[in-house]
Amino acid sequence: MTGRRCNFSIFCNTECGFSPYFQEDQTDISIANCSKNIENHLASVGLKSDDIPTEGHLICFRVGIFSALKSYAVCPLHRYALGICWRKKAGCSHPQHSGKAKPDRAVTLDMSRAISMYDGKLVPVGSGICRKCRTVVYEQISNLHEEDIDCDASEPEDVEKY
Ligand SMILES: [Zn+2]
Ligand SMILES: [Zn+2]
Repeated sequence: MTGRRCNFSIFCNTECGFSPYFQEDQTDISIANCSKNIENHLASVGLKSDDIPTEGHLICFRVGIFSALKSYAVCPLHRYALGICWRKKAGCSHPQHSGKAKPDRAVTLDMSRAISMYDGKLVPVGSGICRKCRTVVYEQISNLHEEDIDCDASEPEDVEKY
C-alpha cells in the first residue's frame, strides 16, 4: 500500500496500512462491501443498532461523514481502527466538558452530528458522554429539529449514468 491512500486517511491523519487484528485483509475495499457483524462492537460501546445498519455506515459515521458513501474505499488499517476495533477514550468526550462527572452513556449518531454542528468538533459515535453534557446536546438536537434542518442520513441518488 505504498503511497496510495484510502479515502479515510485524510480524516484520521494517519497513514494507510494493514490491521494487526485482521492480517488476512490485504487490500482496500469499498465501503459498500464492509459488512462484518458489528453487533458485539456496538453493544461494547453502548450503542444501539437502530442508527447504524452496517459496518460501512459505522466507519463513515466515525469520521463525521453522516451517510454511508459507498463509493469510498477503505484500507484494512482504517477499516478496523474506525470500525469494530475502535476503542473509546476514558472520560467524557464532549468538547465543552468541565468538572469531574464520568461518562455514563454513548454518543449516538444524532449527538455526534449535533456536536459537530454546534461545536465544530468531531466526537465519534460510541464515545462516552456525561449526564451534564448530554443535557446540552439534547437541547441542541431539539433546536436542530425546530429549525427543521434536513438531517437526512441517506445517500444522494446516483448520478445519472449514460
Ligand atoms: Zn487507509
Ligand atoms: Zn461531560
